[in-house]
Amino acid sequence: MRSVVVRRSPVHGKGVFALRTIKAGERILEYKGEVTMWDRAVKRYQRDGRADGHTFFFGLSDGRVIDGERGGNSARWLNHACVPNCETVEEGQRVFVIAAADISTGDELFIDYQLSVEGRRTEAVRAAYRCLCGAAGCRGSMLGHARKTARSERQPGRR
Ligand SMILES: [Zn+2]
Repeated sequence: MRSVVVRRSPVHGKGVFALRTIKAGERILEYKGEVTMWDRAVKRYQRDGRADGHTFFFGLSDGRVIDGERGGNSARWLNHACVPNCETVEEGQRVFVIAAADISTGDELFIDYQLSVEGRRTEAVRAAYRCLCGAAGCRGSMLGHARKTARSERQPGRR
């Protein structure tokens, strides 16, 4: 029995919703797509003019990215939340979405994108990955903490 369905999300665009109760720790689906380089994926994203807050990228720990827009499945519609009810586990270059909490039928599923972008985080880059999840703990960005963080980004006053 399918555990999730893709439909319109009140948060953003399309989202992924539970069709049944999902227990914490349950493996829900795989995040599929083409494995490629970050700069390539970002260039495609910018070229398509989709700087709308919904990316189809999943960053792998080896520095590459799964681009869910190419060969992806319904996992690409998972919206970002800074306090998500799902987490992701990387196995080799495959990624699985796991319930981080008990999820009720009809709930929207979220993951924390924790995106990392190679190169400088310009205003344009930051704007493209702005977070609008609205959670109390929202950090205002779908970008995670980069391994090499520019000093200027650590200064107080930045959201
Ligand atoms: Zn947020």
